[in-house]
Amino acid sequence: MSDYIHAFRHDEDVRNICVIGAGYVGLPLAAVLASRGHSVTLAERDENIASLIREGESPIYEHGLEELLAVALSSERLHITESAAQAVINAEFVFLCVGTPESLDGSADISYITRAAAEIGPHLAEGAIVINKSTAPIGTIKLIERIIGRPDITVVCNPEFLREGTAVADSLNPDRIVVGADNQEAAARVVALFNNTTAPTVVTDTTTAELIKYASNAFLATKLTFINTMAGLCESVGADVVDLGLGLGYDSRIGFEFMRPGPGWGGSCLPKDTSALVTMGESFGCDLELIRAAISGNFAQMNRIVDKIRIAAGGDLRGRIIGILGLTFKANTNDRRNSPAIWITQRLAEDGATVHAYDPTVAKDADGIDDLLHLTLFDDPYSAVARSHVVALLTEWQEFRWLDFTRIHDDVATATIVDARNTLDPASLHRLGFSYSGVGR
Ligand code: NAD
Repeated sequence: MSDYIHAFRHDEDVRNICVIGAGYVGLPLAAVLASRGHSVTLAERDENIASLIREGESPIYEHGLEELLAVALSSERLHITESAAQAVINAEFVFLCVGTPESLDGSADISYITRAAAEIGPHLAEGAIVINKSTAPIGTIKLIERIIGRPDITVVCNPEFLREGTAVADSLNPDRIVVGADNQEAAARVVALFNNTTAPTVVTDTTTAELIKYASNAFLATKLTFINTMAGLCESVGADVVDLGLGLGYDSRIGFEFMRPGPGWGGSCLPKDTSALVTMGESFGCDLELIRAAISGNFAQMNRIVDKIRIAAGGDLRGRIIGILGLTFKANTNDRRNSPAIWITQRLAEDGATVHAYDPTVAKDADGIDDLLHLTLFDDPYSAVARSHVVALLTEWQEFRWLDFTRIHDDVATATIVDARNTLDPASLHRLGFSYSGVGR
């Protein structure tokens, strides 16, 4: 039973709200808005995803989401449709939560946004407010307004900052709310819609709001590249990055968040958003050298992990079995988009390794999926690492801490572990006879 059911309320000012796109942003948002008492129509054009949700099943792995969905559906506060045009007919507020993937030139592909805008434009209720939550470059709000082409409709930017894995909690209790609007009355109506949280609200113009989201992700990515760079230095000079992180983090200007080294940053946001920001800067004549350095530093980090595994395998990956623990870009999500684990395992396979892998969110029958073609999946961690020459932990799932390493020691070809998340306890692994290599220690 989730902690979030108590979030269901009956006393709110009920609004008709439409959410377009039932992904990692749209689905938690729709469930949370329904939990606030609103009447929500969720439009998802993928019929498989739409019918799963209708059945009360979440297509994404998010703590508390299925429980919230069950109550939202049974109380009939949440309806699912495949047609965005139909979904908006009675809505006072329409949230756009469609994907903005990376284009070949590194910029954000906003075609899902422009298509959705064209689709809904003629069907929007008189005076509706369209709220764009998708991360999109400067000028997108004005472009949506032009596509909709109706003077009675205002488009507002409300970037989303939720973290996968804690999407429901983050949607219920955001750190801050940013509302970018060039029309003050519309801004006030959107702020009022969120008046049930205590989060500070920043109301600004649309351009600044659009930039806040990119700047925010670029800052986080840079912080991670910084600590990964320090981890590399720690290894060279014989220092310990875990203690270094503590020594830095107690300074409140620096903090502890995003100060743990790892195999590199990934996921559906940081890589595409940093790349889009650099491209956006170039289009305005600004060279964002710092962000470019953060991106190249990230590739260097992923390569460092490949090298660590190669060294652990004896200097040559050919003919070696590498047992991988974790494939998602971080723990507590099933998202593998731009996962460092996938990038690293692809390099290992290209260099001749046989890659066996286990991840709690990836079923063995997912074998044929494009990003997994280079490896063999197993249903349990012990089978994945059996007979391996190196065990490599690439995602920090808590369950890996509690594995029976005595059993693993008996099953592997060579007792060597590369822990790219510093998740395991080196001392106890050494005692069991493993050779252990972490990151920056
Ligand atoms: P996603 O790809 O998981 O989901 C988008 C969904 O929208 C898909 O299911 C797709 O089928 C649907 N869709 C697209 N066009 C549609 C249409 N016209 N009608 C109905 N459905 C449509 O994407 P996501 O991860 O939820 O991200 C959405 C946006 O939010 C992106 O811009 C992303 O950068 C941003 N964002 C994501 C996160 C995150 O953690 N994933 C966090 C903050 C911001």
